[in-house]
Parts: sequence; structure tokens; C-alpha cells
Amino acid sequence: MANTETQSILVVGSGMSGLTAAIEAAEAGYDTYIVEKNPYLGGRVAQLHQYFPKLCPPYCGLEINFRRIKQNPRVHFFTMAEVKKISGEEGDFNVTIGLSPRYVNEKCTGCGECAEACTIEIENAFNYGMDKIKAAYLPHDMAFPMRYVLDPILVKSEEAQRVKEACPYDAIDLNMEPKTIELKVGSIIWATGWKPYDANKLETYGFAQHLDVITNVMMERLASWTGPTKGKIIRPSDGRAPESVAFVQCAGSRDENHLPFCSGICCLASMKQATYVHEQYPDAKIYIFFIDIRATDRLEDFYNKVKEDENIRFIKGKVAKITQDENDKGLILRVEDTVKEELHEISADLVVLATGMQPNTSDTPVPIHVDYDDYGFISSQNTTAGIYAAGCVRTPTFVSEVVQDGTAAALKAIQSVVRR
Ligand SMILES: Cc1cc2nc3c(=O)[nH]c(=O)nc-3n(C[C@H](O)[C@H](O)[C@H](O)COP(=O)(O)OP(=O)(O)OC[C@H]3O[C@@H](n4cnc5c(N)ncnc54)[C@H](O)[C@@H]3O)c2cc1C
Ligand code: SF4
Ligand code: SF4
Repeated sequence: MANTETQSILVVGSGMSGLTAAIEAAEAGYDTYIVEKNPYLGGRVAQLHQYFPKLCPPYCGLEINFRRIKQNPRVHFFTMAEVKKISGEEGDFNVTIGLSPRYVNEKCTGCGECAEACTIEIENAFNYGMDKIKAAYLPHDMAFPMRYVLDPILVKSEEAQRVKEACPYDAIDLNMEPKTIELKVGSIIWATGWKPYDANKLETYGFAQHLDVITNVMMERLASWTGPTKGKIIRPSDGRAPESVAFVQCAGSRDENHLPFCSGICCLASMKQATYVHEQYPDAKIYIFFIDIRATDRLEDFYNKVKEDENIRFIKGKVAKITQDENDKGLILRVEDTVKEELHEISADLVVLATGMQPNTSDTPVPIHVDYDDYGFISSQNTTAGIYAAGCVRTPTFVSEVVQDGTAAALKAIQSVVRR
């Protein structure tokens, strides 16, 4: 008879690739364990405003997956969790998982009384630090699980006890400690996704100096009704509506000093974000400075549609420097026009850096040998039996592709446990 422990599958990361892999394997009859370091499931997609090319809200797809999880007792998940150690081999892996304390247990109803009682504020990581939240918080409005978190700053403070007493459901446990658990699984899917390239490293673009230079992931939050401005795209410096917005493509990408590869997605992300601006400000001038436009397959139609808009100007040129204009408080972009071989100065109220996608394995590698490619993504030809990569940790790409990748990884992971 098969050993049910080694028939189960570990999925690390709960973005669209990991969620898909875990649910598909569970629906095929295998127990799956999701390990997610955030206090909620869903990955970066939960932070997007709309999906190209249809411009629909990404939360629909996530909601469907959360419903499938609730209906399937074979999917188990741990949040605020990370894999510390992996040993063994295909069909028989031992995994050590570290759990950070949430200080809130499963009795939480999401009533929010603890946040009301709390006076300490922290940076809102979900909105990339563009606003603040209480130190007793729900990670975001649609979070799954819908359970609050207490920041350690609050737990160590004098008001911790008062916040605990404000909870009507006895859901706060200030004595929660970090925990370690051991699991036995037959195969592992690594789906830890990507992070935006650090714009602070792009010194000539002044991200650290000018509040009105933001990144593409920040723009997603700025446009979102759950974002720091409830969806109003305004200049962070003075709250003014921008009359002109410049998108700087390949910000740190295809550059030997930063990310040498093309993320394949940020051209389309900027076009999508140009439509966000245009919807709110039909007369705003929008510039997209590019080296090449990457829009493959059916996404070429989306590009053609955006190009028809006469207020959106595509300019083939490399932005060399961004500085503040002292007179009107706008920003000046110095651009090398690579077609006419001229240098231009263009002013804009708001600048969006289209930063690329870096694999999370560049910070946190898999704690067992796997093969990586030259850019730090897990290699598609990874030779470690029983361990499979899925989604943007394997290659930067769109959601529809990471979903397919998750399904493919689920099948390979099932084959690994069945072979035993
Ligand atoms: C600006 C921008 C806009 C975009 N817009 C679109 C769009 O409109 N349409 C589209 O199709 N695609 C879009 N994308 C791409 C989309 O975001 C990705 O395809 C998608 O996020 C990939 O999902 P994933 O599961 O591979 O990774 P992620 O979404 O990154 O999920 C990975 C998960 O793993 C977790 N994790 C990381 N490290 C660990 C660890 N060590 N242990 C445990 N858990 C860990 C993370 O917390 C996260 O939950 C956009 C990308 C950018 C940059
Ligand atoms: S921890 Fe208690 S007070 Fe806070 S949201 Fe949950 S149930 Fe409400
Ligand atoms: S997708 Fe576009 S902006 Fe992104 S790296 Fe490739 S060419 Fe540059």
C-alpha cells in the first residue's frame, strides 16, 4: 500500500503558479501543502489593478482559486511560513518549515476592533510603502485568509495588552512563538515568483530623490480602488492630478549593470497603465520611451489598440537622466533619440519606471541543490529529480502562462510520487 505521506506534494509560494499547481494536484487526488511567506495567499497578482489584455480585475481569478481551496480538504496551507531545510530524494523528501507568529488565531472574524484600539502605525507593504496602516492589520481588503496580523512592534509595545483586550473573540495570543514543523513529501514544486528590480539602484533616474518618480508596481497600487489613494492617480509629492505622465521602459533591464535580460512583460504593463491614466485624465499627455517594444502573440493586438490613441506617444529613445525642474516642480527627462541621434529634454508631472522582474531565488535560493540559469531563474532543465519550478521563478511571464506552468508542474510532481 502507498505511504500517504510520501504521496503528498509540497508547493512553495502561493502566487498564480503555486495556487494552480496545488489545486490541480489536489483535485487529481493528492494531498498538497502550500508554504507561503506572506500572511495571505495570491502573490503579486493580488496587487495588480487590472489584467491585460482584457483589462479585467485580477481578483476574479484569485477568488475562484480560493473557493476551490475551501472546497477541497486535500489542500493544506501555511502562511507566514518558509522552507528552512530539505533532505532526502524524489519520492521521500523531509522538509523543515519555519512559521512566524501572527499573534492572531483562527477565532479571528476580521471585525477590526483591534485596529481601532491600536495607535501605532507601520508602512503598508502591500502598497509598496505609499501609505501607512495600523500595526494590527488585515494585509489587504480582500485577503485570504481573512485574518488580522499583529506586527511585532505592537506586540513589544505598552499598548499590546490593551489591543488584546479590545478583541471580542479572544483571537489575540501575545505569547505566540516562532514554530518549526516537519513534513514528509514525495515531490516539491518551487513557485516563489519574482520581485521588482530595486529602483534605488538606478541612480540617474532619481527614484530615491523625487517622490513623483514611481515604479510600475507602485502604479498598479495607485490605480487600484484598494490602493493608497482609493484609485485616484495623483502625484505623490503634492496630490495634484498629473497633466503628463512618462513611462521609462527597460528601467534597469537589458543592462549588464543591472538585469541583463528582458522581462518580456513591462512593455505591456506600461501600455496597460497608460490606459489607467487615460481613463481618469483623457487629455493628459502620455509618453512611452522605449528601446524595442516586446508584445508577443495575441498581445500585439493590445499594442496596436493603444498605439491608435493620439494622446499616447511612443518615442524610441533611451532615458539617460531624470531631474527636478525647479520652476514648475515637474520632472525633466533627458532622452537620447536613437532614431534621429538627438538629445531631447521632455518634462512630465509623473514618471513611471518600468522595472523588470527578478527571481525571488536571487535572495532565497532553494535549500537543496537545483540548477539555475545565468540570470538566477531556476533552469527549465533542472536535473534534481522530484523538484520542479513553476511560474516566474523559472521565467518572467504573464499570468496565463504561469497558470499553464503550474498545471504542468503538478503533473510532473504527481508522476514523481506515482513512480515510487
Ligand atoms: C507592473 C506589472 C504588471 C503586470 N500586469 C500583468 C497583467 O496585467 N497581466 C498578466 O498576465 N501578468 C501581469 N504581470 C505579471 C504577473 O504579475 C506574473 O505573471 C505573476 O505574478 C506570476 O505569478 P507567480 O506565481 O509565478 O509569482 P508571484 O506572483 O511572485 O507569487 C510568488 C509567491 O511566492 C511567495 N514567496 C516568495 N518567496 C517565498 C519563500 N521563500 N517561501 C515561501 N513563499 C515565498 C510570494 O510571497 C508570492 O506569494 C505584471 C507584472 C508587472 C511587473
Ligand atoms: S483579532 Fe480580534 S479584534 Fe482583531 S479582527 Fe480578529 S476578531 Fe476582530
Ligand atoms: S518587456 Fe519591454 S520594457 Fe521590459 S525589459 Fe523587455 S523590452 Fe524592456
